[in-house]
Amino acid sequence: MRVFSATLAVETNTFAPMPTGLSSFREFGYYPAGQHPDRMTLYAGPLWAARLRGAERGWQLFEGVVAGAQPGGATTRHAYETLREELLADLRAALPVDMVLLGLHGAMVADGYDDCEGDLLARVRGITGADVVIGVELDPHCHLTPDMVALADLMVACKEYPHTDVLERGLELVDLCAAMVEGRVRPAAAVVDCEMIVTVHTSREPGRGFVDRIQSLEGRDGVLSISIAHGFPWGDVADMGTKVLVYTDGDAAQAQALARQLADELIGLREGLTVRYPGIDAALDEALAFDGGPVVLADAADNPGGGSASDSTFILRRMLERGIGNAALGPMWDPVAVRIAFDAGVGARLPMRIGGKISPLSGDPLDLECTVKALRHDLVMTGLANTPVPMGDCALVEAGGIGIVLVTLRNQAMGTDLFTQLGCDLAARKIVVVKSSQHFYDSFSQVARQVIYAGAPGSVTLDLRTLRYRKVRGPKWPLDAGALTIS
Ligand SMILES: [Zn+2]
Repeated sequence: MRVFSATLAVETNTFAPMPTGLSSFREFGYYPAGQHPDRMTLYAGPLWAARLRGAERGWQLFEGVVAGAQPGGATTRHAYETLREELLADLRAALPVDMVLLGLHGAMVADGYDDCEGDLLARVRGITGADVVIGVELDPHCHLTPDMVALADLMVACKEYPHTDVLERGLELVDLCAAMVEGRVRPAAAVVDCEMIVTVHTSREPGRGFVDRIQSLEGRDGVLSISIAHGFPWGDVADMGTKVLVYTDGDAAQAQALARQLADELIGLREGLTVRYPGIDAALDEALAFDGGPVVLADAADNPGGGSASDSTFILRRMLERGIGNAALGPMWDPVAVRIAFDAGVGARLPMRIGGKISPLSGDPLDLECTVKALRHDLVMTGLANTPVPMGDCALVEAGGIGIVLVTLRNQAMGTDLFTQLGCDLAARKIVVVKSSQHFYDSFSQVARQVIYAGAPGSVTLDLRTLRYRKVRGPKWPLDAGALTIS
């Protein structure tokens, strides 16, 4: 079997201030055809799964470009079209192929392209023709558009949030696509729009039980695959929202009935799925009132994994104003401050201007008397599914009893080793503030006695009613009609 795999992935926050250009891909993960390293990277689940299966089964694997960027503002037209054309050229060079496996995110928006994945799949299909099997692995924070569903034969989204199952879903995708090439299955797709926007945390109920349930339905009674697209509410595109995608073996009516049934179940769970997010002071009060620690406070609104700058100061400012010490916070994306800390050296005490540099959504910078506690060149944090996450040169500085991890590369907190590699012992801290929405959970829950999702301002605000949507099609619970018509 001749198999082609490639990746083009980013999650676009259309409300975020920084554009995503080619350098954002080069910095985060850009590997030209045939140059992907000998380990899995975050968006290359299908490629890695194809390597594993291909080695067992003697496939000829053609590896095209793998390009992924840290979430950010809209991708530039130049970056999208350049990478798309590179991927398509790699595909043409591999022809003829039996199977195309793509690692996409599903929420990529570029200048002039609200549905990058639909555009890319149309061009891939145009090259392969109707008979080649096209499979896609998605992030559940995708906009599941009708074009994507129509153009791909199979799409499988991660089920876990945190997305710890990149490889498992990649293997499922590859196995189902191979079965289709061999004529053993004939996937029939159905999508039901839940007309809402929710997030499905699998770290708690009712999300955990729901995901366990849909997994128990797969592989039986002709049900091939079920994916829940949470949607990505910080992408203002017509198709944003929560959807259920079901593939059955050749029975479209069965797929439709099951998708409708699961959508209705999910709609029934939506109040419980909603993330509770007390404001900054209320969250700090809750943390202080908790007997023991550490209490992990998630600053979701400044999660770079949702496209924010990761340099907001709203929570840090309140902690300092309130005299809350014995705490740690990170990662604060501030390459200039890191540079100054390196020049000053470990042990130096100096005034530093921290954070608040990118836009009003980051708040104002903080002028602090800092002590440089630790410095590390090219720190690598452990990320989802044990993928390595480069953080660049990093500094731990302390001000007001708060250890602040300053980083050079913009990534969210996913592994506690972000702190511990700098000698910051989290177990001894009362409060640990992480810039992350949920991907922190797998690692940080191992040290946290309590987790609180704090409602701070920022470009990944949890208060969706404050976002100025122009394109999202309603109805979209919990947004009221007013939120969808402001322009
Ligand atoms: Zn996601």
